Amino acid sequence: MSDTFTELAANLASIAKSFHARGWLLGTSGNLSAVVQREPLRLAMSPSGIDKGELTPDQLLSIDDNARIVSRHSGKPSDESLLHIRIVKDRGAGAVLHTHSIWNTILSDLYASEGGVTIEGYEMLKGLQGVQTHDHSEWLPIIENSQDMAALAEVVGKTLNEHKEAHGFLLQRHGLYSWGDSLAQAKRHIEILEFLLETMGRTSFIKRKHAI
Ligand SMILES: [Zn+2]
Repeated sequence: MSDTFTELAANLASIAKSFHARGWLLGTSGNLSAVVQREPLRLAMSPSGIDKGELTPDQLLSIDDNARIVSRHSGKPSDESLLHIRIVKDRGAGAVLHTHSIWNTILSDLYASEGGVTIEGYEMLKGLQGVQTHDHSEWLPIIENSQDMAALAEVVGKTLNEHKEAHGFLLQRHGLYSWGDSLAQAKRHIEILEFLLETMGRTSFIKRKHAI
């Protein structure tokens, strides 16, 4: 494998471990990818069915733009690879990360009827690429969940096109997707969005409890 792939695979495994430790990738949930090269497209992709706390660099797969394995691995790429490929193509992303945290799952359901969540007024928003002030309104679209990945990839593409400023989206009762120009930026975006979703969730719980 290329040096780029080897380096990205090591970084992806390390991010998986740290996200797992934070409860964002429990069991075999969630998936991670990074672009190794664009022409032809090659992604380092997490395999299906592997505990993300135990993921090792040599388990990362190299896939093409049809989610077929092009490396000498016997594993199976994540079922959601088609969504990663769509985000890489439509956003020009260098990496895509997908988490299944408790708070993103709760908020993806609470706000589903509104089609998305507005996050505004928080200092942490400045961690999102291009955002300069807390006085920013971030719209995180919510997409209905599905097991038909080809159909879901089409909806994701349409949503990305309709919300060109979005740094991520939620799948209802499922999880959060975010991306970045680089793997470091994608990791930062997930950390920022997870922080903001948990903050909003906890705030609304406290407000309800104390009827503020
Ligand atoms: Zn998922």
